[in-house]
Amino acid sequence: MRNKSVILEARDIRLAIELIELGARLQLLEAETNLSRERLLKLYKEVRGESPPKGMLPFSTDWFMTWQPNIHASLFMAYFRFMQTHTQLKGLELIIKAYRMYLEQIKRGGMDTVLSLTRAWTMVRFFDAKMLQMANCKECGGEFVAHAYDPTKGYVCGLCHMPARAGKTRKAAEAAAANASQRDAVAAA
Ligand SMILES: [Zn+2]
Repeated sequence: MRNKSVILEARDIRLAIELIELGARLQLLEAETNLSRERLLKLYKEVRGESPPKGMLPFSTDWFMTWQPNIHASLFMAYFRFMQTHTQLKGLELIIKAYRMYLEQIKRGGMDTVLSLTRAWTMVRFFDAKMLQMANCKECGGEFVAHAYDPTKGYVCGLCHMPARAGKTRKAAEAAAANASQRDAVAAA
């Protein structure tokens, strides 16, 4: 037993269940709770009715720069930064709250979930490690996730400069919805 306190263990189990329900990968659960891998595997199977996916977590920031993921990542960050400024929430709690807001917005807009909780969590770590930054689009004024060392002067976001392959109706609707909700989050601040 790694946990001596029953109360702490109960708290960890509750947190792990919440994270698993939100789609967390095993690595995230191991990093954020003190539960053993064995217990986490058992919990995961009980909650989701299947074994967790195998494989490494993404280590690259590049995924967040591709067109559709960037819009979703930027939407999550708008909520994350808003909650960071206007609430006492910190760390994982803050990530979970912002992620729930992101999910609600995605559902309202009838979009697919592109950003997983594990991706969002990884992205916050990339920000903490100063590998990512927010850049202001000079066209729409929105804030978007960008590489830390890229110049942000004259930055144009993926919504204002839509690649041809993304220029389909559904994508455009998705972009408009994400853009509008990011503005709402910023305007509310
Ligand atoms: Zn823009």
